[in-house]
Amino acid sequence: MFVRELKRSLDRLNGARGKTPEKLERTTTKFSSIGIGSIADLLLYYPREWVDRTRVVPLKDFNKKDEKGRKITVCTVAKVIAHDWVGFGAKRGLKVYIEDKTARAVLTFWKYQETYTKILSIGESFWISCKFSYNARYGDIQSSSKIVYKRATDEGAFKKLFPIYHLGKQITQKEIESFIKLALRQYGSSIEDEIPQFLRARYDFLPKSKALTAIHSPSTANELEKAKNALIYEEFFYLETIIGRKSMTRKAKQRRECKAKFGLQERLLERLAFSLTVGQARAIEEINRDMDGPFPMARLLQGDVGSGKTLVAFLACLHAIENDRQAALMAPTELLARQHAENAAKLLEPLGVRVAFLTGNMKAAGRAQLVKNLTSGEIDLVIGTHALFSKDVVYRDLRLVIIDEQHRFGVLQRQAIMDKGDSPDLLMMSATPIPRTLAITVFGDLDVSIIRDMPPGRKPIETHLARESNEAKVYDFVKRRLAEGAQAYFVYPLIEEGEQELKNATSMAERLARETFPEYRTALVHSRLDEEEKRQTMEAFRKGDARVLVATSVVEVGVDVPNATCMVIEHAERFGLSALHQLRGRVGRGSAQSYCFLVYSDEYTEDAKTRLMAMLESADGFIIAEEDLKLRGPGQIAGFEQSGYLKLGMADIVRDSALLEQARVDAFAMLEKDPGLLLPENLVVSAVLERCPPWENVVF
Ligand code: ADP
Ligand code: MG
Repeated sequence: MFVRELKRSLDRLNGARGKTPEKLERTTTKFSSIGIGSIADLLLYYPREWVDRTRVVPLKDFNKKDEKGRKITVCTVAKVIAHDWVGFGAKRGLKVYIEDKTARAVLTFWKYQETYTKILSIGESFWISCKFSYNARYGDIQSSSKIVYKRATDEGAFKKLFPIYHLGKQITQKEIESFIKLALRQYGSSIEDEIPQFLRARYDFLPKSKALTAIHSPSTANELEKAKNALIYEEFFYLETIIGRKSMTRKAKQRRECKAKFGLQERLLERLAFSLTVGQARAIEEINRDMDGPFPMARLLQGDVGSGKTLVAFLACLHAIENDRQAALMAPTELLARQHAENAAKLLEPLGVRVAFLTGNMKAAGRAQLVKNLTSGEIDLVIGTHALFSKDVVYRDLRLVIIDEQHRFGVLQRQAIMDKGDSPDLLMMSATPIPRTLAITVFGDLDVSIIRDMPPGRKPIETHLARESNEAKVYDFVKRRLAEGAQAYFVYPLIEEGEQELKNATSMAERLARETFPEYRTALVHSRLDEEEKRQTMEAFRKGDARVLVATSVVEVGVDVPNATCMVIEHAERFGLSALHQLRGRVGRGSAQSYCFLVYSDEYTEDAKTRLMAMLESADGFIIAEEDLKLRGPGQIAGFEQSGYLKLGMADIVRDSALLEQARVDAFAMLEKDPGLLLPENLVVSAVLERCPPWENVVF
């Protein structure tokens, strides 16, 4: 059996069954509180860390730090040399003086003192493990945390690595350990390998059952390391196998021809006041080639904020439209979708393209007509939000799906819009640059176009850090820019006053309007306003009627107002780096010099400081995203947590990127040699994918 096939519930464990039904019930409830319902769940509940008591750390080293900068845990054989009593009555404590080859120290016990005088008797030797600190008053090295000890003769039971599990409120370390032991004893030997034998041999991986046993109760650090490697590789191997198969399926699809005729694309380019940047030109060339090609396109267009991805998207739409097919452009917010629709109306309607705008907020009658026109083919390009894949929306012939700010959508949503056409071409766009490590896991089946250059004439944005106590200076600076005719954004982490004492957009909009910039119109936008209000506000800001826009991170994506040259982000320490970069990208869109101020709370942490410094050091979204990934992990990168399939068990795509690359090479090589996974050596892979596919609910 593969471990994930052990679907039986915990009460089927021998040893658990001796309990009364009530007791058993209580135990299973406890386990299900941390998400463990079956034996498989239990065995796959990996420890979060391991305490290593195999390495001797003598008393004299008590003050050293481990590699993570934490105080080291002493682990040594020491002899008890004296007992002493301190305090009186309930506060009476027992001091046990010990000595190893390097130093003397004191263990203090405030409970069960009498028992300890007997166990830790004078003259005997013990293995001792705990942290110590120096007590200046007594000149002692004192135990300062949980003391673990075993008789020196019990070395075997003591010198081990101990797993530490994430615990719920109701469950103890011991309960988890004992149940896992039961499960391993009963099922361990029947657990089958999932990595094909030839690969296991190549890397000398432990068999699955051994690896699982070693993860839960390792006997040496080396064995633990080997077990981790095998499990991590296995996760990556299947992830990449699934990605590889998905790619093969796509490439096997046949479809109708859709040759670029260039007529419409060229006419659009002629109408523009500027020409394409090198990056834009290359991107559209690659897209045209894919769309002409024999199988559906799956392409990710990456380009930093302001690099002009929208124009490339419009050109791609024209490719489909001049072949008498339809295109859909989906954006994550109504604000952004509307902006795209307005641009499309301006740029594409003069070419005869029939553009429509569809959101969830449309009136029923208008919507019904629009959907009818989509179905009959009287609309060439539809732009909108999630509404584009509503049940009732039917396209006549959807050839191209474009997803802007794709990381804002979950996989299932991306799949839902794709299902509206017959294997349509897919173009996903992202200004959050996806670090390579993520690109080859999550988006492993995508071809990538990258726009590396910016439209000419842009000046780099000047970025400054400012303490909250210096905010008046920032406000003054903005005031001078406003006097010159510019516009400004002010961004806050909260919409309204909340539990935390943070500035919020609503009160600050009032305050800025009343006290700071009384001579200018100030507008407020956030996600809780209704769409019409949002639209009017943005319109007022775009036209320059409102000179200051106070907002939450709703303005993070896509908003394009070239006359806005100041971006002030308050409580900047609350935002992720990629979000800050996106927000900063709202300015610097015209030819004037732009500024970004990151205002941080006076009491922010060192960690936050390192992050904000990265914003000063780099204007390159790729570097910032890599930094974000390192500091906060993939889940934090704008919206990746929605992608579901990043929930790997043991593996970490950043830390384990070398294994990831290896697994990808191996998985792809296997598929190339044996696409159907029919060779005897690969049968185990087909069996796993058939019987218990990992990431079951994932659509890549
Ligand atoms: P993003 O890649 O962030 O989505 P946009 O598509 O919103 O960027 O483009 C940013 C701005 O740059 C828009 O105002 C757009 O009209 C302008 N732009 C796009 N391409 C060019 C170009 N080749 N030359 C000059 N300006 C351009
Ligand atoms: Mg954009």
